[in-house]
Amino acid sequence: MDRVLQYAEIYPERTRAIQRVKYAIKAGKLKRPPACEVCGKVGKVDGHHEDYTKPLDVMWLCRSCHLQLRDDSWIEKGKRMRAHKKIVN
Ligand SMILES: [Zn+2]
Repeated sequence: MDRVLQYAEIYPERTRAIQRVKYAIKAGKLKRPPACEVCGKVGKVDGHHEDYTKPLDVMWLCRSCHLQLRDDSWIEKGKRMRAHKKIVN
């Protein structure tokens, strides 16, 4: 419980983005797809935010793809991709 609270304090944007997604699903504005967007595996998928300032811009990933995204090399790759996007834009 303490860990969850700490997490919310350290990452307020993330917490807010997750709440926005939950609300949007309830309100019918956002749909949780039946399959992972990366590998196509059917089952439970979690919302993943690339940018917490765009709370409804969500990637839906299965657990294994989501874990891979949390891996450092994936994070580094993501940062490079984001930096690249900034240059392109
Ligand atoms: Zn997957």
